[in-house]
Amino acid sequence: MRRLRRTKIVATLGPASGNPEMIGRLFEAGADTFRINMSHSSHDRMRELVAAIRAVEKHHNRPIGILVDLQGPKLRVSTFADGPVMLDNGATFTFDADATPGDARRVHLPHPEIFAGIKAGDRLLLDDGKIRLTVTESDRQRIATRVEVGGKLSDRKGVSLPDTLIPFSALTPKDRSDLDAALDAGIDWIGLSFVQRPDDIAEAKKITRGRAAVMAKIEKPAAVNRLDEIMEATDAIMVARGDLGVEMPLEKVPGIQKQLTRAARRAGKPVVVATQMLESMITSPVPTRAEVSDVATAIFDGADAIMLSAESAAGQFPVEAVSTMNRIAEEVESEEGYRAIMEAQHAEPEATGADAIAAAARQIADTLDLSAIICWTFSGSTALRVGRERPRAPIVAISPNIAAGRKLSVAWGVHCIVAEDAKDQDDMIERACRLAFRDAFAKAGRRVIIVAGLPLGTPGATNMLRIAFVGAEAGGD
Ligand code: PEP
Repeated sequence: MRRLRRTKIVATLGPASGNPEMIGRLFEAGADTFRINMSHSSHDRMRELVAAIRAVEKHHNRPIGILVDLQGPKLRVSTFADGPVMLDNGATFTFDADATPGDARRVHLPHPEIFAGIKAGDRLLLDDGKIRLTVTESDRQRIATRVEVGGKLSDRKGVSLPDTLIPFSALTPKDRSDLDAALDAGIDWIGLSFVQRPDDIAEAKKITRGRAAVMAKIEKPAAVNRLDEIMEATDAIMVARGDLGVEMPLEKVPGIQKQLTRAARRAGKPVVVATQMLESMITSPVPTRAEVSDVATAIFDGADAIMLSAESAAGQFPVEAVSTMNRIAEEVESEEGYRAIMEAQHAEPEATGADAIAAAARQIADTLDLSAIICWTFSGSTALRVGRERPRAPIVAISPNIAAGRKLSVAWGVHCIVAEDAKDQDDMIERACRLAFRDAFAKAGRRVIIVAGLPLGTPGATNMLRIAFVGAEAGGD
């Protein structure tokens, strides 16, 4: 099975899409990676979903990525004695360490770390930013605030602190237990929520130890401010526009999306644009024009992947949402303007053998109008560096390592084939041509370019580039 687009699709699974038959339909409609949100899944449910995805993978003989998204330190107020309360503009409202149920003047905030980090002048947002408060004074027991924009506040509503660096890690005890279970289940990507600093990623990597790659969800201003260091530490990022739009003014989100996409492309690390991309398709079989335009913008920016959340997890039209994204991507990528943008925004190669070879492969493929760039890769990193070039020719990665193929399921433009390692250089060339022919990337009589590291099996040693003819015999077996 060959996709006719370069941008990948991530589909979140949930009550609307959790059964094996539906997962198969979503894959056939275009989903390349499935996301399991641990805010809503038990360990047993996660394991069932992983097993169902692996069954689809086996049936189609195509590597499929699984992203397990950890809940992270989601902050919430405690409960109220007599139901919801009304916070009026200009009133004083206090958060404290007293576990007694709240009223219209105060509520318990069951997160002692916040009291240590917050200061007068910081903003405090409640219920996805609907209620806005400013801190007037604070100590270790209480935070007094002035209500700037009031509203109704009920039990366990979320709290966001855009101006406060909170002295806790991005991994809660629940996250650690979810992470262990996900690693045991053999998943490919871990989504880290509410990352604030590069150390948060280092902490997760100490646990994953290479068993899964780490995707930092960028949803806090603190993370945007330390983007370069976070980009250095992480394997990929997600533009988590839902929480980003709570913690930052909404009108800043499009600019940040472009900033994050550019930075990830420069680093050669996958970037996933997420949240509300086709929101109206939760209840409608057709998206709005504005949503189509939003998906197209992410594709024109060169995002590696676009993501569906509630549309595929809990909506009425999960398959239609995936096939709509698929159609938009196919159309946008066929526009001449798309090619021109990919070339104009092309990042300079870094001074490494892998980048020099990747840049040369792109240039040769363009000059000679070659059918495909084929990379032999163990970890997938050569394919990522070639993808960073955003070449016109399709990229085929051949790897003996299924984990690499699964991880590449969020990477721009890479079609990964899992196959046993080549015996020698002749075998490498011959099988590259044969597999490219088999998966319809090159016709007999056309040429491809092959990139590899020799001696075979040496990680990070990309040093070979060969142009080869796909002979008529490629289709022979
Ligand atoms: C987001 O906030 O945009 C996001 C993807 O995170 P979650 O869905 O886990 O809230």
